[in-house]
Amino acid sequence: MKRQSKFIFMIIIVLILFASTNILLFQRYIVLVEGDVGSINQLGTIRGSIQRFTKLELVNGENKHIKDKIDNIFEAQKELKTPFLKEAEEKWKELKSVAIKHRINPDVNNIKKLIETSEECWDIVDKAILKNQHIAENKTAYLVLPIVFLIFELIFGVLLIYIIKRYVYDNLETFAAYDNLTKAHSRRYFIEFMNNEISRAERKNAEFSLIMFDIDHFKTINDTYGHSAGDEVLKTLTDIVKKGLRKSDIVSRIGGEEFTIMLPDSAINEAVNTAERARKNIEKHHFKDVGNITVSFGVTAYQTGDKVDDMLKRADTALYIAKNGGRNRTEIA
Ligand code: GH3
Ligand code: MG
Ligand code: MG
Repeated sequence: MKRQSKFIFMIIIVLILFASTNILLFQRYIVLVEGDVGSINQLGTIRGSIQRFTKLELVNGENKHIKDKIDNIFEAQKELKTPFLKEAEEKWKELKSVAIKHRINPDVNNIKKLIETSEECWDIVDKAILKNQHIAENKTAYLVLPIVFLIFELIFGVLLIYIIKRYVYDNLETFAAYDNLTKAHSRRYFIEFMNNEISRAERKNAEFSLIMFDIDHFKTINDTYGHSAGDEVLKTLTDIVKKGLRKSDIVSRIGGEEFTIMLPDSAINEAVNTAERARKNIEKHHFKDVGNITVSFGVTAYQTGDKVDDMLKRADTALYIAKNGGRNRTEIA
């Protein structure tokens, strides 16, 4: 259980690391591509404006605002270090000086020169756009790493879900198998174990015994010292009983203050000895706040054809005899 939770913790840490790295990688990619998209858009504006600038120039129209606009874009692009910009800017400078000459002398030569330079300038900017688009496309290679991380995250995520499912399932079984207060086995586990033991006894002709025990006058203990003192007695009592048992013996809490001990491969006399040992250990123990208490025991052994209920009934009868006989004793049925 501890190993599993450590593992889950580790996977969560790995997932967090992967996810944060991934966010950073995606962010880096977005910044890179965003810059490119901005540059391409600005170059597109330059390309369009050059044509408009030339048209207005040819009709001697007002084109200063377009010139300023293009100048400003080139200026801004310089800071962004857009590739292939220098060539375009050189051509733009040339176009501006050709335009000045045309303004002064709009003869056929200057008109021709203006149109030619404008075409060249348009061409260069257009190439710059294509080259920048190509660069942006190549940057998709930067996506490989975050995608690989994403795949890892998915794999770890699925693994995490699987382990958590196992963890919950395993622990549900553990919760169902033990009594929360005393950490003795639960009634459910006891019944299951009894059924298995009966099948084994039938198959292998093995013997096994069952002890049932119940605290004497526990109601009075509760009434006198309080319910939580009673709970403490139940816990301590379980520990005392467990100490005197073999590893294979199973202690279960099957009711409020009723317990059983299953003793595989034990004849009834061994079970009686075990019960007596437990009874004496309890009798001499000084329980915190409560002092001395006693417990009555009923013992029975498996008989061919027994079902769980048959054995429980006989153990209960033996316990009843012990109670009726004055308590703090062990009886057989
Ligand atoms: P007897 O010697 O005949 O067994 O007398 P008794 O008082 O022990 O028997 P009875 O069945 O009358 O009382 C059992 C008491 O056990 C009643 C109930 O309050 C108490 N009890 C049951 N479960 C718990 C528990 O989880 N904690 C505590 N503190 N008391 C419990
Ligand atoms: Mg009792
Ligand atoms: Mg009782």
